[in-house]
Amino acid sequence: MELVSQVDVVLDCSDNFATRYALNQACVQLKKPFVSGAATRFDGQVAVFDMRHPHSPCYHCLYPEQPDALETRCAVMGVFAPLVGIIGSIQAAEALKLLMGIGTLLCNRLLITDLLHMELRTVKLNKDPACLICGAPCT
Ligand SMILES: [Zn+2]
Repeated sequence: MELVSQVDVVLDCSDNFATRYALNQACVQLKKPFVSGAATRFDGQVAVFDMRHPHSPCYHCLYPEQPDALETRCAVMGVFAPLVGIIGSIQAAEALKLLMGIGTLLCNRLLITDLLHMELRTVKLNKDPACLICGAPCT
């Protein structure tokens, strides 16, 4: 909470759910934008959760905590080396655009990359009104 309170945007580049959930919770409480990135094997994901907006979904809306969730760490599952550079560069681009207030961000969308078949697509994300972290939207 102390570190997140000192910044304008948070980028998650960790490889575990505990860190992601902790960063997400701090960003929700402090209303900070959260740029999430993940990479395993040939598959990557990026999303921007802009918690300055009350109707934004949070990371927990997308991935609710599961007690038996399978951790898919790069150290165990492996990762295609160029993928981490691509995902990290997309996160950096989103963070810079957010700070400059330009362009269209990956807010309310999840970018899914499949480098093995070189396919990129986005899916729409919705806020979970029953989310334990961000709760119901303000009206
Ligand atoms: Zn949520």
